[in-house]
Amino acid sequence: MKVNNVELVISAVKPEQYPAEGFPEFALAGRSNVGKSSFINKMINRKSMARTSSKPGKTQTLNYYKIEEALYFVDVPGYGFAKVSKREREAWGQMIETYFTSREELCAVLLIVDLRHPPTKDDINMYDFLKYYQLPCIVIATKADKIPRGKWEKHATVIRKNLDLVKEDEIIVFSSETAEGKDKVWNALKKWM
Ligand code: GDP
Repeated sequence: MKVNNVELVISAVKPEQYPAEGFPEFALAGRSNVGKSSFINKMINRKSMARTSSKPGKTQTLNYYKIEEALYFVDVPGYGFAKVSKREREAWGQMIETYFTSREELCAVLLIVDLRHPPTKDDINMYDFLKYYQLPCIVIATKADKIPRGKWEKHATVIRKNLDLVKEDEIIVFSSETAEGKDKVWNALKKWM
């Protein structure tokens, strides 16, 4: 997909604020610092549009990026910060749960993980959560440029096994540095558009 027009439409904290057009939505989830903002920016051809809204102290919002009057990327706050308070964690959990369980426009969740490492406990919990709610998931294994191409398949297999991916869910090797995987991701999204 050739992306020219992208707009951050709203940073929503409650369902009343979600956009009303009915465009298909794809949520982006991943632990903090995994490379989620870089992934979004690469997909939409922007240098720094998706900020890292997930840093501690920043408001936890669902950031709706409208792409070409056709679909939304919904940036979900990152998980896995050791230092957030229990209260913050609960607020995060509630917002995500409401969104994931009630949003009809949500087609699939793109779960961003680091290709270099086995998934963390938080990654596994997130995937289990998505499957519990029967949400389709595409796993994006990013930072591929940081390991040799010859090792990609082996690392992807470790991730697939550790997350215990169901056969419908694919894993796509990605790099925000080289744009590796970008076309594959757009292709994967097509089936819902
Ligand atoms: P977020 O917190 O998940 O949104 O993570 P960011 O997108 O801010 O990325 C965290 C750090 O990883 C930054 O220093 C990025 O430059 C770096 N990074 C993200 N994606 C890639 C990638 O594909 N390759 C490389 N080499 N670095 C990356």
